[in-house]
Amino acid sequence: MLNLNEKKDGHIHTPFCPHGTKDCFEQYVYEAIKRGREEMSFTEHFPMPRGVTSDAYYNECVIREEQIEEYVEAVRKIKEQFKGQIKINVGFEIDYIEGKEKEIKALLEKYGDVIEDSLLSIHFVKLGDRYYAIDDLDEFGMLLDKVGSIECVYDLYYETLLKSVQSDLGRYKPRRIGHPTLVRIFNQKYPCEYTNDGLLEEIVQAIKEKDYEVDYNVAGLRKKYCKEVYPTGKMLTLLEYNDIPLVYGTDAHQSEEIKS
Ligand SMILES: [Zn+2]
Ligand SMILES: [Zn+2]
Repeated sequence: MLNLNEKKDGHIHTPFCPHGTKDCFEQYVYEAIKRGREEMSFTEHFPMPRGVTSDAYYNECVIREEQIEEYVEAVRKIKEQFKGQIKINVGFEIDYIEGKEKEIKALLEKYGDVIEDSLLSIHFVKLGDRYYAIDDLDEFGMLLDKVGSIECVYDLYYETLLKSVQSDLGRYKPRRIGHPTLVRIFNQKYPCEYTNDGLLEEIVQAIKEKDYEVDYNVAGLRKKYCKEVYPTGKMLTLLEYNDIPLVYGTDAHQSEEIKS
């Protein structure tokens, strides 16, 4: 049986998200209460180190460092407002970027003491000296051209995932791994029957050793070329077999998506 906590929604974005919506915090909270949740975490995209992507794309990905204080204040306010009705956590979704561990650690050192809940996610993988956004259809295609097969794209993603679990990001490193099969976001366009079970086993073993949780992320169900939960397939079976705690995550970027 899956060790899945559905009483909590552990992955929610906010009006501070540059690629999200302006739906206000209250709307998200009302929807979460209606959905029967007892706990929810706002997990805005944490600032990334520079040098990963263009400035224009960067500005679409994450909040600016100067906004952190305002964001934290906003979540604290809403937390207070709904006290006794639902537990609300101040959180962030932190990007793991291979080769930028030191910079991420420094950013976490700076702001980590306000974080009550967080996720470590991969949206970028490194090949040579360039990073590719795995959840961007064009970049996924470019990466595929470079490495030659979908299996190789998956390998690169899962190798990065293993590194993220093992990485030293200091005392504020998140303890929950975000959408661990995000590489399947375009699986209906680029089908792949991934066979490198050994690597998946290594990842799950590392998660177990670290005593981490995993994001049971339903955003993929909403994605045109995905239509499945992250994690799924062999990865999910392994997580279940090892009794890894999963936390439901809607990854909502609009309040409507809290219902999913
Ligand atoms: Zn987002
Ligand atoms: Zn994410």
